[in-house]
This record gives sequence, C-alpha cells and structure tokens, in this order.
Amino acid sequence: METATIYQLFERQQQTQLQWLTSTADERIARLKKLRKALEQYREALQTSMQLELRKPLFELSLHEIEFVLAELRYTIENLKEWMAPKYVPASMGTLSSVSYSQAQPRGVSLILSPWNYPVQLTLCPVIAAIAAGCCCMVKPSELVPQTAEVLQKIIAAAFTEAEICVVNGGVELSTLLLSLPFSHIHFTGSPQVGKVVMKAAAEHLCEVTLELGGKSPAVVDETANVAHAAAAITFGKFVNAGQTCIAPDYVLVHTSLAEKLVVALSQAVKKNYYSTGKLEKADYAQIINAKHFDRITGLLQDALAQGARLALGGESTKADLTIEPTIVAGVRADMKLMQEEIFGPVLPILTFNTPQEALDIIRALDKPLAAYIFAGKARRKDFYLAQIQAGGITVNDTLLHIANMNLPFGGINNSGVGKTHGHYGFMGFSNERGIVKQGWMRLSRVAHPPYARKNWMIRVMRYFLR
Ligand code: NAD
Repeated sequence: METATIYQLFERQQQTQLQWLTSTADERIARLKKLRKALEQYREALQTSMQLELRKPLFELSLHEIEFVLAELRYTIENLKEWMAPKYVPASMGTLSSVSYSQAQPRGVSLILSPWNYPVQLTLCPVIAAIAAGCCCMVKPSELVPQTAEVLQKIIAAAFTEAEICVVNGGVELSTLLLSLPFSHIHFTGSPQVGKVVMKAAAEHLCEVTLELGGKSPAVVDETANVAHAAAAITFGKFVNAGQTCIAPDYVLVHTSLAEKLVVALSQAVKKNYYSTGKLEKADYAQIINAKHFDRITGLLQDALAQGARLALGGESTKADLTIEPTIVAGVRADMKLMQEEIFGPVLPILTFNTPQEALDIIRALDKPLAAYIFAGKARRKDFYLAQIQAGGITVNDTLLHIANMNLPFGGINNSGVGKTHGHYGFMGFSNERGIVKQGWMRLSRVAHPPYARKNWMIRVMRYFLR
C-alpha cells in the first residue's frame, strides 16, 4: 500500500475522531451492531478461509473465533452505558466543596496489529474495544493468513467508512510504516520479539500500548493432583489448534511420583480425542501455519531427542499437509532448546520435580509466562502455587478457562505482555480515564491561596486530621 495512501487514511481518521470524541453510548452501540451484522454476513467466508489457511475444525473456529467475538459484542453492548457513565468518588480534604468523578474519553485514532493463530478473534475483539471506547482505528491482520485478512477487510468495509475504521493488508513493511505514525493507542498481539519493536516505535510518540504477547506457560501437576483430570485438561489445552495457542500449556512440570502415570493418562487422552478411528482424525486437528514453523517445531523436537529426551507419544509429521501429530516428550531438561523458546506447536515436554520449590525454580528461570496451570487436590497446595507463580493469568485444575470469562482481565506480565484486555479492560485500554473535579459555589480551595502569613494554623489542623 502506498505511503501517501496510509498518511491520507490516518489524517481522515483524525478528522472523524473529532466527531467520535463526543459520541454517545447509543451511537457506539449502533456501530457495534453494524459490525455484528457484517460478521454474520461474512460468517461462511470466514469459515472457508480459516479452514483453508489453518485447517481449523469447524467446531473450533465457530466456538473460539466467531462465537467468541459475538459473545464479546453482546457483553460490550450490554455493559457499555455503565462503563461510559461517570464514576463519582468521595471528596478529599482539598476538594471538600466540589464534586469529583472519573470518566472515560476516547484516546484517539488507534492501531491494531494482530497475529495469525486466532485471526478473527484477535483482530475483531480489539476492534470491539476500540469502537466501545469511541476510537477510530486502522487494523492490520497477519500477512500469514491473507484470505482471512481479506474477508476481515470486507467485514469492516461493510460496516464502516475508511475514515472511521479500516483494514489495511500487508507485511512487515506496512507494519513498520504504520508504526511511524503518531497513533494515540497501539493494540498489538504477537510475539515478544515484535512486541519490543512495537513498544520502541510507540515510545517515539509516547503512545500508549497494549501488548498481548506469548511465552512458556507451565502446567504444574502437584503430587496431590487428580492425574486423569489433569491429563484430560492438559491434552485439550495443548493440542487445540495444534498447540498454536498463546495460552496453551507449553510444558508440564509433574511431581516425580506421578510422572509415569501422567504420561500414560496423557497418551490415553490424546488417543481418545484425536485417534478414535485408529488414525489421526485431521478433521478435528489443525495444521501448522506454514513450512517455516513446521521446520522450527520439528527441529526443536529432533534437538531434544538428540540431547537424550525420550519420545513418549507421537513424533510423526507430514510436511505435505503441514501436520505434526500430537507429541509427548519425556526426560526433558531445562537446558534443551525445547525449553528455551515458546514451542507454539503440538509438542509437549514433560519435566519432573521433587518439591514445589523445585517446580518454582524451573518456572522462575524463564520469563514470566502469559498463563500458568495448577493441578492440585489440596487447597494449601493450590494457594501456595497461586501465591508464588507470577503469570498473566491462572486456571486451577483446568486449562485455558481464564480467557473465557469476560468479567476477568486478560493479558500478560513483562515479557508476556503489557496491559489487559477483554470486556471493560479492553474498553479502558482504548480510553483515557480522566479525573474530573467540578468546583462548587463555596470554593473552599481558596483558603490555601496566598498570602500565607496568618494560615500556618491550618497545617496543624491538617496534621491532626491526617494522622
Ligand atoms: P508476530 O509477532 O510475528 O506477528 C504479529 C503481527 O506483527 C503481524 O501482524 C505481523 O505482520 C506484525 N509483524 C511481524 N514482524 C514485524 C516487525 N518486525 N515489525 C512490525 N510488525 C511486525 O506473531 P505471530 O507469529 O503472528 O503470532 C505468534 C505469537 O503471538 C506467539 O508468540 C504467541 O504467543 C503470540 N500470541 C499472543 C496472544 C495473546 O493474546 N497474548 C494471542 C495470540 C498469539
């Protein structure tokens, strides 16, 4: 896309933003409903493109992409009036004769950059948050899913003018151009490496960022855990979308006493979920996005096996259709490559520990993860891990669920993300929450104006009350 065109679009959006600055809840709700109508209109086109580009099972793409976005839309429409309403707070000593409240205002024209793994959810949920907050925005989906990106462009074009919201399609060059513009907010979802590029570019304009990144999310299976339940939950969380899920359990830490039992239970769960006919049911199992990632993931596996890890399940792969079968690797050590980068594929390393402290040491040697999963039977153990593990979000005795409740904040910490999203948190990401004081007729603040000569007693009174 021409540089001049991008600059023009940005300028036109800045003009529209001046009108959107004062948009009412009803106007924003009307925009959200337009988006919903366009999404319904292009539902089938989205299904086709996601099946083509990722071989996403219909059930998965319906639930995790389209219905997920529709649920976010419904939730936002239901709650927007309350989020936009002023939030009154009590007066402090300095503001006694006035009224204080906070109220959200749109930050301004925003940029949304999204990844390929959940291309619809991770593009449209931030768009919903931007619309709710009253922001115009430019949206760039991942170039690795060009057909889905094209349908997303049509959806947005069906609901909005380019001067309001637009999708621009392209690769790194286009991202770099977009990042040079003085946006008011950038919502980026992708890898920590590119997250750093985005944050540096944003710093040039002191632009606010929400960074939804990734990392190595552990699943800890404590000696008090129910092994069968843990295995079923980890199997689902790891192999849905063939492991290409930002909050998938990246690796398992299991108490030594349960390690063998867990590997058997995981293998049984994988067979039950994906091999009900004896061979891999590809209709229920996504492909790897491209040959580069296929080579990267199989390379990590080969390296671990060469370093002495043991294949407990799977290991087969077919490059022709970019399939890597669900794979479990036992005897993995922290110094193997498999444990040094986010796997983002269907290979599950199993590491063992003897004491909870040992498990914590392994987790803390890596960057703080986006998610963590704790499997434990005893409340004391759950509380111990909950208090000690620093992760963006946590699910206890299951996987992935903390992303499914829109009342909760979603996001990472440090290397796995900056800022939170979903529901009210997404709305706040694109809003500037202003503290507002309206002075009353008594104007008590005048007592603190000079001359100060006969006012020192006031400090003594203040000290007495603020003790
Ligand atoms: P990515 O960082 O390679 O790409 C994301 C976006 O950034 C794309 O739109 C891409 O065009 C753009 N981009 C790529 N390189 C760039 C550069 N040098 N400069 C500017 N822009 C650039 O990520 P990906 O491969 O699409 O997605 C996988 C990663 O995303 C994983 O790390 C995963 O954990 C993470 N992720 C996080 C979440 C979350 O919600 N936290 C969700 C999904 C994926």
